[in-house]
Amino acid sequence: RAKTLGKSRTEMFHREMHRSAMTRLTLEADLRRAMVNGEFLLHYQPIVSLESLEVVGFEALVRWRRPDGSMVYPGDFIGIVEDTGLIVALGFWILREACMATRRWQREFPRETPLTISVNISPRQFAEPDLVAQVRRIIAETGIDPQTVRLEITESVTIGDADREVSMLSQLKDLGIRLSIDDFGTGYSSLSYLHRLPLDVLKIDRSFVSAMDKSAESFQIVNTIMNLARNLGMHVVAEGAEVAGQIEQLQSLGCDYGQGYFFSKPMDPADVVKLLKGPTHWAGV
Ligand code: C2E
Ligand code: MG
Ligand code: MG
Ligand code: MG
Repeated sequence: RAKTLGKSRTEMFHREMHRSAMTRLTLEADLRRAMVNGEFLLHYQPIVSLESLEVVGFEALVRWRRPDGSMVYPGDFIGIVEDTGLIVALGFWILREACMATRRWQREFPRETPLTISVNISPRQFAEPDLVAQVRRIIAETGIDPQTVRLEITESVTIGDADREVSMLSQLKDLGIRLSIDDFGTGYSSLSYLHRLPLDVLKIDRSFVSAMDKSAESFQIVNTIMNLARNLGMHVVAEGAEVAGQIEQLQSLGCDYGQGYFFSKPMDPADVVKLLKGPTHWAGV
């Protein structure tokens, strides 16, 4: 009895494994096709000055619209796109697309300080030997001012070969672009190492920001990260602020910028234009 039960369990387990392997293979095939068919698109989330409450720029966030019209978010596909190496081609498409769109908005909505565009660079992309050459080419071809482009890297990028990373980041900086460290506080980078990296912007991870009005500990973490960034001469973006109370707390700590649902969810390019036509009002601050 026990034996047959055991056996059928093993079978079930194998069937389950087989199913998830199949799902995975189908998903991989779908993603390759998506690339060829142009099923990826970008949404843009505003980054807002906490002093003037003006939109200073956007972060580009990739989405996948499947042929049936359903929208897939990066949490459900970026890992596979990374594993398969597809991220390299997709990543360069994303950078080019974001730079082209932003170049248009910068022309249409000129400002004393031009709008910035932030683009995520995944660890796999960061490992590409020709990353710097490709970024240089995309900047040149889109004609965007490199000073308005920010590449976001995560701390996980910065735990491999330290010397290579410092050198890569310096080469990117030499192109005139800016560098941000994303999701800060969730990784393990040491202080001395962070100090060696030529970073301009630190983005505090959403988990701390979204909890700071309820948890004294999270508030203290945000405060500590703010001080760290200030000492390293970096600007700070707080990710994931959803309510007015968090915005007020961030302002009281002297945080430079906020990005989160309180201001706006990521939006399609048509809504970006509407937003930039302004005037903008944020409820509650
Ligand atoms: P991320 O770079 O940290 O981007 C911020 C994520 O937080 C976005 O999710 C954004 O929609 C979400 N978010 C912003 N404000 C709030 C808020 O107030 N509340 C909540 N609940 N969420 C908020 P999204 O677009 O699903 O992207 C998830 C992650 O996928 C990104 O995290 C990034 O790591 C990755 N990703 C997105 N687009 C790209 C891309 O173009 N290339 C690469 N390599 N990775 C990307
Ligand atoms: Mg990001
Ligand atoms: Mg982030
Ligand atoms: Mg994140």
